Amino acid sequence: MRIAIYPGSFDPLTNGHLDVVQRAAKLFDRVIVAVAKNEGKHPLFTLDERVALVSASVKKMPNVTVDAFDGLLVDYVVSKNARAIVRGLRAISDFEFEFQLALMNRKLNENVETIFMMPKDTYTFLSSRIVKEIARLGGDVRPFVPEPVQAALKKKLKG
Ligand code: ADP
Repeated sequence: MRIAIYPGSFDPLTNGHLDVVQRAAKLFDRVIVAVAKNEGKHPLFTLDERVALVSASVKKMPNVTVDAFDGLLVDYVVSKNARAIVRGLRAISDFEFEFQLALMNRKLNENVETIFMMPKDTYTFLSSRIVKEIARLGGDVRPFVPEPVQAALKKKLKG
């Protein structure tokens, strides 16, 4: 059974993240979207809200599940009997940080591989940060996020 972990803050999940999940789900028997607690990043959505939004958005994908995690990613990967970490690469700007993270994770556990996936070109400009900014300013985020996320952004930011 080939299991991959797709870790991130997912604050909130965007169509770019979903594109990566779909691609990973074709390559692996099981994909676990692992939502990081990441309190240091002061997320807009609580951990439970982020997990619930991913859950609602992947429910039609039979081999994808959602989980929350805290602590060292490589330890979490091992605890799930997984061997691969999936990360998305949008542009050169992602590369330096992702490269550093992947090599550090390899130093921590050389049995865990990091796999990079490129989203569909129309999603390369998408980030959770920019989606939150557009929503805050009253813009239409429907083209960029799944429906449950759009509804949650509207609720969270109203008033
Ligand atoms: P983190 O805080 O760990 O970077 P994110 O939720 O921002 O968490 O992103 C998780 C992963 O998804 C990262 O590898 C990031 O590069 C990738 N990602 C984010 N947005 C997109 C997108 N639009 N297309 C492809 N990958 C993306």
